[in-house]
Amino acid sequence: MEDIVKLLAGIVGRDNVLHEPYDLIAYSRDRYPIFTHPRQGVKPLAVARPATTDEVREIITLANKYRIPLTPRGSGTNYAGSAVPAKGGVVLDLTRMNKILSINEDAMNVKVQAGVILQNLEETLNSKGFTFGHDPGSFPTATVGGCISTRSLGWRAGKYGDMGDLVLSLKVVLPTGVVVETREVSKSSTGFDVNSLFIGAEGTLGVITEALLRIHPLPEERAFLIYSFNSFEQAYKSLLKVLRKGLTFTSSIVEDSEDEQETMVFLCYEGVKEIVNVQVKHTTSIFEAEGGTRLDDKVAEEYWMNRHDMFSQMNKEGVADSIDTAVPVSKVLEFYKFLKEWVKRSNVKPMGLGSWVLPENLGIDLAFDGTKAEAYVAAREELVNKALELGGTVSYCVGVGLRFPHLMRKEHGSALDVMKMIKRVMDPNNIMNPGGLGL
Ligand SMILES: Cc1cc2nc3c(=O)[nH]c(=O)nc-3n(C[C@H](O)[C@H](O)[C@H](O)COP(=O)(O)OP(=O)(O)OC[C@H]3O[C@@H](n4cnc5c(N)ncnc54)[C@H](O)[C@@H]3O)c2cc1C
Repeated sequence: MEDIVKLLAGIVGRDNVLHEPYDLIAYSRDRYPIFTHPRQGVKPLAVARPATTDEVREIITLANKYRIPLTPRGSGTNYAGSAVPAKGGVVLDLTRMNKILSINEDAMNVKVQAGVILQNLEETLNSKGFTFGHDPGSFPTATVGGCISTRSLGWRAGKYGDMGDLVLSLKVVLPTGVVVETREVSKSSTGFDVNSLFIGAEGTLGVITEALLRIHPLPEERAFLIYSFNSFEQAYKSLLKVLRKGLTFTSSIVEDSEDEQETMVFLCYEGVKEIVNVQVKHTTSIFEAEGGTRLDDKVAEEYWMNRHDMFSQMNKEGVADSIDTAVPVSKVLEFYKFLKEWVKRSNVKPMGLGSWVLPENLGIDLAFDGTKAEAYVAAREELVNKALELGGTVSYCVGVGLRFPHLMRKEHGSALDVMKMIKRVMDPNNIMNPGGLGL
């Protein structure tokens, strides 16, 4: 322990190595709700806070030499437990790598260090007439590196795609200490897409230190609509009609009202004013033809204003969690029925059951009784297994973490062996987030 602290201090400086018990407790958890106090996370040996790619490279080289498990960490907002140092070792806290390195207005891209917080990036871009377009609930706190590593999905993904879609190139330190930097072009036809290895890898294949990301013009207009329908089926089918018309909304939610008497469809459009107006006009005629009733736009604006606040609302009712399952569009209505039944027998308080941003996504935000976490985990297993049986995924955005490594075979079949082979070759000593992704 003494030795590792000394060696790390030699790389990042004494002030940037944490090893006191109270510091280690803070890094033993992320937002995984099963580790909510008093349940324990897993304490690392030490935390190192590098400021440069070179420091990251030196730490990884050291860890590889002494076979020390390494867990990269952004802001620790992941609620699958993927930033928990499950095998102890050293946590690499990347939040000192928080520089916006360049903004290229002609090419419409931005180069950042991995620890940049999304909100800081967005505010800087807004001041220059651009937007990043990635807006998860954790927007005020999550880092670019954490979002790439979980392939996170945000409120504006209907128009701008998920975090992976925004990546143009990456600088990554591999588990062997080699630094890889991909080319700054939006497309190449020269072999494997190396960026994609690190998107959604949950830190198992290396540490992302820099990223070149797409940016977009700041929209001149943003419009919100909210409609009420008699049933989820009617609402969902109306949303599919909007998509079939070729309209591109920025954001959508199809969600039952609190009293379960109606289903709301919330939509947001943004972009050039005339185009937004035309899209709103077409949506309105589709929804009205399908029997929807338009509600006050202020209700829709409220949805938008509260979008980063969902966990604080949910935490008032117990321990908050979000199950982010997705199934093929053809199975959504069947899964919806299952979900409704599941809620009745699972002792959870539903705080939002519906489809968010992409039509395959169908999950639930909820609160559960923290003193009965085992029962909740068993119920969660039943639900995600049903999504798998219907041909879906256990997670459309938050990731595997400590929740679902045992389900990776069921979800991916022999594709899991491809992932395992890649992991073995790239991380021969299994130092990066060992056990992560069920590898
Ligand atoms: C209130 C709230 C709302 C949320 N809303 C959403 C949402 O709308 N959509 C969504 O997708 N998620 C959401 N999340 C989950 C979480 O914010 C995302 O998973 C986010 O991507 C994590 O970013 P982070 O910086 O906190 O990463 P961390 O939690 O620190 O790490 C996440 C994973 O990435 C790895 N990692 C971190 N940085 C690097 C790096 N530089 N190189 C390699 N690996 C790295 C870690 O090892 C870990 O496996 C929400 C969480 C909260 C608490």
